[in-house]
Amino acid sequence: MSTLKSVGLLTSGGDAPGMNAAIRAVVRGCIYHNLRIFGIRRGYQGMIDDDIEEMQSNSVSNIIQTGGTILKSARSMEFKTAEGRKKAFENLRKRGIDALVVIGGDGTFTGARIFGEEYDMPIVGIPGTIDNDLYGTDYTIGYDTALNTVVEAVDKIRDTATAHSRLFFIEVMGRDAGFLALRSGIASGAEAILVPEVKTDYTQLNHFLENGFKKSKTSSIVLVAEGDEIGGAIKIAEKVGKAHPEYDVRVTILGHIQRGGSPSAFDRVSASRLGVSAVEALLAGKRSIMVGLSNKEVIHTPFSQALKNKKALNPQLLELTNILSI
Ligand code: ATP
Repeated sequence: MSTLKSVGLLTSGGDAPGMNAAIRAVVRGCIYHNLRIFGIRRGYQGMIDDDIEEMQSNSVSNIIQTGGTILKSARSMEFKTAEGRKKAFENLRKRGIDALVVIGGDGTFTGARIFGEEYDMPIVGIPGTIDNDLYGTDYTIGYDTALNTVVEAVDKIRDTATAHSRLFFIEVMGRDAGFLALRSGIASGAEAILVPEVKTDYTQLNHFLENGFKKSKTSSIVLVAEGDEIGGAIKIAEKVGKAHPEYDVRVTILGHIQRGGSPSAFDRVSASRLGVSAVEALLAGKRSIMVGLSNKEVIHTPFSQALKNKKALNPQLLELTNILSI
């Protein structure tokens, strides 16, 4: 029998569509299991500032379909200090909060792991980031929605690219990970995809530009993850533009549009499952773990493992682009 009575909940780091669906699931999961649930605003900073309020079932009415996060998110430098975390713990203790659910990315889980060890507090993490770069889950909440947003945008750019026979470099989010670029590139029929995980083979790109593009293409789209070692879409477009003055080169940086919008059905379902699973994990006495989805099942991965291991891009998907862009 669990002694757990009150849970604190926050969203932290970059926001992602579907975070609200996860908040709703955690709140209702707690109430269903007779736990009190406290919403903490602005991530770890709200814990330090005591920006905390008890939530009820109707606090999360009508939010499953909305983007952003009703709890707001923040990046807190103060939480990286021992004094900041002490203040945060005192605010939790004052309210009788004895466990936390945190929704975010690897930075959020790094903070959770440190805080959980320091104050012996059970914490369960839910992966929420459009980057999909977390080990221990096939999909992070927000990734599917962002993917669809990118594909819709690239389709539109393709129309104008074709009308003018232009070569577009389109930059998508992904400082360290190319999941978004790779999948959206395949889904939108990109001619090439540049990701941080693979060193950009400029000769190969050049070869393609000289042979493939010139001969057979009415338009060309190259998807570039912002963290590509070559330096993002602007840098690579400059380089290509100089080498090939005959091409009409254009750059589009999709930017924050990728974070917004109503979450896809897939993200809503994942968020609902993971939210309730996080509460059940706490009730089962689990701590310092992330709940994730692997082969359609919910799995638990210790923060230490999730943080240490890097999720690899699927090499078959990388190969697919080479075949399909002939
Ligand atoms: P995203 O992947 O979308 O960027 P994230 O969770 O990785 O999300 P970060 O800004 O890296 O986003 O981290 C969120 C917050 O976690 C930080 O603002 C900070 O408050 C906390 N955090 C990160 N690293 C640490 C650390 N070493 N010690 C304590 N807290 C940390």
